[in-house]
Amino acid sequence: MPAGADHLMNTYLRGPLLLVKGHGVRVEDQAGRSYLDFVGGVAVNTLGHCHPHVVEAVKQQVERLIHTSNLYYNEPQLRLAEALVRCSFADQVFFCNSGAEATEAAIKLTRKWAKHHRGPDADEILTMEGSFHGRTMGALSATGQPRLQQGFEPLLPGFRHLSYDDLAAAEEAIGPRTIAIIVEPIQGESGVRLPHPGYLAGLRRLCTERNVLLIFDEVQTGIGRTGRLFAYEHEGIQPDIMTLAKGLGGGLPIGAMLAIRSVADTFTPGSHASTFGGNPLVCAAALATLETIRSEGLLPLCHEMGDYLLGKLQILRSRRSIITDVRGKGLLVGIELLTAGRPVVEACQAEGLLINVTAERVLRLMPPLIVTRHEIDEAVTIIDRVLSAIDS
Ligand code: PLP
Repeated sequence: MPAGADHLMNTYLRGPLLLVKGHGVRVEDQAGRSYLDFVGGVAVNTLGHCHPHVVEAVKQQVERLIHTSNLYYNEPQLRLAEALVRCSFADQVFFCNSGAEATEAAIKLTRKWAKHHRGPDADEILTMEGSFHGRTMGALSATGQPRLQQGFEPLLPGFRHLSYDDLAAAEEAIGPRTIAIIVEPIQGESGVRLPHPGYLAGLRRLCTERNVLLIFDEVQTGIGRTGRLFAYEHEGIQPDIMTLAKGLGGGLPIGAMLAIRSVADTFTPGSHASTFGGNPLVCAAALATLETIRSEGLLPLCHEMGDYLLGKLQILRSRRSIITDVRGKGLLVGIELLTAGRPVVEACQAEGLLINVTAERVLRLMPPLIVTRHEIDEAVTIIDRVLSAIDS
């Protein structure tokens, strides 16, 4: 373990790798060894490491104004809110610092909306089994994974978990107390699970019919990850509330909760707050990220590279019986194995490729949207080599 590791609380399963710098799709460790990074900061490094546009925006902002608090307006925050509203369904934005905080903000807005629009007894939020919405107590209560909740009880009341991708279950579950459904367009943390086409549109229809809010957690799928700026666009529908974080800040910590005006309006001064939320520095980085996604045409590129990666992995699947499924959208890709994924992750790292495992047996690939065919070829060759050693 690197010096100092002893002083960190033991909350992550990690090896001794210590990364010191990165450029594009590559990172380098202390010993100067280079790795192809297909974890991408867990779907954060949309533009790769240290993209010059983000670096320049941060440099300029850091010399101008770093922090002000939300007692005053700041220019990057105003411009980012405007940009997000312009490119999404939403009318207003609340800024925070992470995905979990965005979930908390969505829960609070939903509860407040319900007090005004649904009556005092309506307080139930429906959420999905296998979902992941963050680690703070509210977000953890919304998360549909008992193993993550164990030991932290009592959880926040007012959540009921349903099976994902099951429209009939949702239809049956909505009752007089139900105020919202929160759902990930793709469940990233529980193994890159994609619902059937029409599921999200079906939820939209049910929510509209029953005066229930539809919340999309796009913390992982948002900001171009699936080949559209937001995954809901694939379905031709819109939520009432959306949460964002990860890819939004180009590597800097930011979260956001977006909503339509009739819902957002229920927040008034004092309803919610965050000291750092919408800090000028992170907002400048986020603006540069959004602008670069547009100017470099990264959405069609993500779509193209995602198809290329999936195609190569399908070929691998036909040759390697250890692979039971390959799935994904854009550059959020899962490779399901017959056996545990961790040894594969470790062997890939030893070969110079960083990937990640979720749900025990699903290798997850989330390379930056700037990844090239050549880098994809290189990654797939390493995965193939590692799997062939395990398979034989
Ligand atoms: N929601 C989803 C869908 C996520 O994937 C994550 C993190 O993986 C979160 C929420 C929580 O985000 P954070 O780790 O920034 O709190």
